[in-house]
Amino acid sequence: MIRQFIKRVFGKKTPATTGVSNGSAAGKPRVYGKAEHKINRADISSAALKTCEGLQDAGFDAFVVGGAVRDLLLHRHPKDFDVATSATPEEVRNVFRRSRIIGRRFRIVHVLFGQETIEVSTFRAQHAVAEGAEGAEEADAPAAVAAPEEDENSRRRHRRKPMDDGVKARADEHGRLLRDNVFGSQAEDAIRRDFTMNALFYDPAREEVWDYVNGVADVAQKRVVMIGEPIERYREDPVRMLRAARLAGKLGFTIDAATEAPIAELGALLDNVPTARIYDEMLKLLLSGHATNCIARLRALGLQQHVLPVIDSLLSNDNSRAFVELALRRTDERIAADKGVSPTFLFAALFWFPMQARLKKIVGEGAENSLHWHTAMDDTLDYQRKTLAIPRRLDALIKEIWISQTRLTQRSKTKAYRMLSLPSFRACYDFLALRAEVGNADPELATWWEQFQTASDDEREEMLLPDTSPRKKRRRRRKPAGEGGRDGGSAPEVAA
Ligand code: ATP
Ligand code: MG
Repeated sequence: MIRQFIKRVFGKKTPATTGVSNGSAAGKPRVYGKAEHKINRADISSAALKTCEGLQDAGFDAFVVGGAVRDLLLHRHPKDFDVATSATPEEVRNVFRRSRIIGRRFRIVHVLFGQETIEVSTFRAQHAVAEGAEGAEEADAPAAVAAPEEDENSRRRHRRKPMDDGVKARADEHGRLLRDNVFGSQAEDAIRRDFTMNALFYDPAREEVWDYVNGVADVAQKRVVMIGEPIERYREDPVRMLRAARLAGKLGFTIDAATEAPIAELGALLDNVPTARIYDEMLKLLLSGHATNCIARLRALGLQQHVLPVIDSLLSNDNSRAFVELALRRTDERIAADKGVSPTFLFAALFWFPMQARLKKIVGEGAENSLHWHTAMDDTLDYQRKTLAIPRRLDALIKEIWISQTRLTQRSKTKAYRMLSLPSFRACYDFLALRAEVGNADPELATWWEQFQTASDDEREEMLLPDTSPRKKRRRRRKPAGEGGRDGGSAPEVAA
């Protein structure tokens, strides 16, 4: 609709300069010079600079775009650099020898410079939502039409003409966009983005920021503002609600009233989003370096119930709250210190208490065994997967961390050395230390392991304790039926 509007008002001649202020009124971009935006060119990766330069030398438009420009304006270190260009993927591919076209839904190009990869996407439009599934096939039609046109802002060749108006994106019955793979003008590329702060273009050659949506002002005022009509934009892609929470939490921004208002009602739309996408977005949130803030934002917006429902019960119980808060805080601190963080560890922490509760329920009055444990662990992970598609490849390590919590109580020579030799030892020990810190495990045990790791052989010999595990007793019985767990069937004890 917006694109039709642009075309109607401006005709064919001004695609690239057709700006839209906050997605509603068309206009030219506001161009900020260096004195105003104060972005230091030296803060931009040389790979991103070379990508823009290569494309511009070949006659195309090319800008650093999206989150990187937002972060540069805030004098934060961008996580990665994306480039938007008037060149088609094939044209980009021709400019850079070391590049490859990827993606099915929308084809983008990865340009490789040593270790760094720059993601280059062609300016594209987000088309009006189709009323039904009709028109879906049209979205796959050849998208770009070369139209060398000039206007006062265009100083390079090869402008793209917006796609034919007959092409619509496919949407599901909730208005969720299923396809948006049509090339467009730079202005269209700005307004198809989510928030004004994410729709800015930086031209490294001219050191200019091009702003079609009042994004520079919103960044200055630290506001998350949706481009266009918020309700419509959330319906198109409910994940934008999660992005609002994440970016507000990460950047310490406030969410604009009109952008926030519909979320309370539309949050349930997240239930229709594939759980793999929810997982990706939640992983970004948890590993944003501001997990604590982001979770608080999620809860303030009422979104947690759709993406991580377990968080409410965890935070409503004193013991689990202390543990989960500490796990999130430690994750944030490690990221701030540039240390590695493992999603596996974090999920093991988030679901430790639910797993214990499940175990209790399964065991009931009887004595627990390893089968109980494996059932409880599987049940817990399967249950969480209903909202968050935690990849199954993480299961083994999550379970290993959990099971190790009992094994770590064994400090005999054989057991302790075997534990120490496990590749997962560090994660298992860290988990124990985290539990000990909040009173969920014996602090003396955690200290013992801390010292044992760095002690000399002689010192270790002194530290070792007799084997108290029930394993020895069982040897007499040989293979007992129904106790086929990896730990030989011992029933792990839980320090609750
Ligand atoms: P971060 O710094 O955390 O990477 P980001 O804003 O760069 O944040 P990305 O997921 O890397 O987030 O997305 C890059 C850009 O793509 C965004 O800045 C935004 O312009 C656009 N974008 C991403 N997701 C959406 C979406 N769901 N709807 C519209 N535009 C989006
Ligand atoms: Mg990014």
